[in-house]
Amino acid sequence: MSGLALSCVGVAALVPTANGSSAASLPPLVAAPPSGTAVDGTLVIAHGDDFVAGIADEEVGLVSGTAAVDPAATPVALSSDAAMAHVGSEVTAYQTPGQAELVVPPSELSHDHATHDHGPEVAADTAAMATGAQSVLMIMFNFANDRRTPWTKAAAEQVLLTNPTSVAAYYSDVSNGELTITGTVTDWIELDATNASCGSNYGTWASEANAKATANGHTLGAYDWIVYNFPSLSCGWSGLAYLGWSGAWINGSPTLRTIAHELGHNFNVHHASSLNCTSAGVRVTYSTSCTASEYGDPASVMGASTRMHHARHQALLGYTMPTQQVSTSGTYTIAPMEGAGSPRLLKIALGTNVDLWLEYRQPTARFDNWISTDPFVMGVGMRTTASYSSQSYVLDATPGTTTFNDAPLAAGQTFLDPVSGSRITVVSVTSTAATVEIELSASSSTTTTATTAPPSTTTTTPPTATTAPPPTTTTTAPGRARRGRGYWMLERSGRAHAFGSALHYGDIAGTLSGSATATDLETTPTGLGYWIVDSSGRVKAFGDARRFGDAPQVTLVAGEQVTSLAATGSGAGYWLFSNRGRALAFGDAVHHGDVSTLVLNGPVIGSIPTPTGGGYFMVASDGGIFAFGDAQFAGSMGGFRLNAPVMGLVPDGDGRGYWLVGSDGGIFAFDAAFRGSMGTVSLNRPVVGMVRFGDGYLMVGADGGIFNFSDQGFFGSLGATPPTQPIVAVSVLEE
Ligand SMILES: [Zn+2]
Ligand SMILES: [Zn+2]
Repeated sequence: MSGLALSCVGVAALVPTANGSSAASLPPLVAAPPSGTAVDGTLVIAHGDDFVAGIADEEVGLVSGTAAVDPAATPVALSSDAAMAHVGSEVTAYQTPGQAELVVPPSELSHDHATHDHGPEVAADTAAMATGAQSVLMIMFNFANDRRTPWTKAAAEQVLLTNPTSVAAYYSDVSNGELTITGTVTDWIELDATNASCGSNYGTWASEANAKATANGHTLGAYDWIVYNFPSLSCGWSGLAYLGWSGAWINGSPTLRTIAHELGHNFNVHHASSLNCTSAGVRVTYSTSCTASEYGDPASVMGASTRMHHARHQALLGYTMPTQQVSTSGTYTIAPMEGAGSPRLLKIALGTNVDLWLEYRQPTARFDNWISTDPFVMGVGMRTTASYSSQSYVLDATPGTTTFNDAPLAAGQTFLDPVSGSRITVVSVTSTAATVEIELSASSSTTTTATTAPPSTTTTTPPTATTAPPPTTTTTAPGRARRGRGYWMLERSGRAHAFGSALHYGDIAGTLSGSATATDLETTPTGLGYWIVDSSGRVKAFGDARRFGDAPQVTLVAGEQVTSLAATGSGAGYWLFSNRGRALAFGDAVHHGDVSTLVLNGPVIGSIPTPTGGGYFMVASDGGIFAFGDAQFAGSMGGFRLNAPVMGLVPDGDGRGYWLVGSDGGIFAFDAAFRGSMGTVSLNRPVVGMVRFGDGYLMVGADGGIFNFSDQGFFGSLGATPPTQPIVAVSVLEE
């Protein structure tokens, strides 16, 4: 099940919505002060698991009061990554008439994390929500049109509480006794609701189930966590849970895997995924060209099995997990994760916002009951995380085989990180420790020192240790951009390709509906995320990008397609531009006018803001140019006969002048320096995008070829391995 997006991709509103998906008449405008009716509540992320298809789905919502009492949430226009650091925070959101989604103003999420125990190092480092004695109420219910009772209350009690491999036994073993689960299972409760539409009705089912359980004498407030369980339905998910908040739904027969997994989400950890990487078409342990498999980690209940949570997730869950940060080269030991030694987890910075985690596992009586020769107890497990997320990606140290069952780095093996140049060798493994030799590349040691606030080699004991102040450079505050250079390409299928230091944060491949095609990818000002928009105007946000809404469907006319998204300088808003010359402003973007009411000779094929954001240009396929706001008209090809249609316009760095590019790679410079063109070369495939890069520009062809006319380096292309669908856009990462 490879080739899945790195981030979970929401396909439909999983969060129940009171007013349905009514189309909006106006884009939400989040100016300061925010407009609309204020709604106070707690931020939650609803997370659906389709273990069979290997796909997860996430939506952000707001619950009022206590989720355990009123689990129905209202959808919020925010990406799950952006919300992740603030799950469980009380925020004030705003309801604008006609908008199904609430808007949370950036000010609600951009408080000073120095005075705060969470941040981009994530909710992650604050999880620690479920230790000590925790009680679970499992409410079993069925429906007015479906009175099945396929398992008994006694059977459910065994799975949750009393089996040798119950959920309670699992968390007792994993936490080494630091978490004790007790609980109650209700008798079957008969809802008045029908079993229709799980995806939108699970919240209202839970509300009715709560009321009926209360009427039956259960005191909901006496429990820390509530789990709902109903006879198997075709929902597209077998389990669903709020991340970092009470509320888990088990679809069908209760099992250790599903309940422990969904409770894991409640306790605030994300998935244990796997990373499939290639270099020049050959499978390798790690590279800049990787795709993720959502549940691909064979050694975690957050992945493909009922194995224990891995050491990084245990640290996030708040269990004692002595962790050592490696910032100098040397020999290190790792004690078995299941034991009481120290350290049991090593952390190595792979880049400015990617960490590598090393752990060592040994067999236990249950859950981690591997045979003594299994690769998982014969080597060192390697997982990466982005610093803002608790989702982990296991690396395959034996890439010659496609299975991850041999993922750990065995004794005698060396892993070379092709990006940083750092090297990890497992010297030996015994029943009490793995010994590893770590050679950090000069650049990576420097990076570590420079970017990690807490100093070097300290062995520490959580929770204090792992809740130390987050590395300052991983925050998403403006001006703290990701270092390095590179670029992203977007396929018409919605797949994103990352090159150089640009990271893959997820994409929309496999999620497009109807005839929609992906049309643009735009990086955030920090370079730590991006937006992808499709031709129907649907926007998805990845990494630190925040979603401010889609193009309202009632606004677009027949045949009108959204062709690009451009971010404002702050990243707190964006414009969507269409082929009819329409501009739609979201967040702090300002509408400076458009040509949507004019009759045009040809479609508008490119629209782009000026460097100040105080205006934008639109260029039509016949070379005609329209300037708005502070955009200054410097000439156009509107009166000339062109060899090929104009494909785009790029303002030059000084804000006066621009380049026009034709689909044949020809460049027309207007009050801007000519840096070269492909106009005299015959191209395999047309040029489909051009962006400002360094002192010049970068063109990308539909076949993924890169033409670089700048002082910046070349970071690779898809020339040798052409994409399955044409490339439609390019976006660059610059220092
Ligand atoms: Zn999940
Ligand atoms: Zn915060």
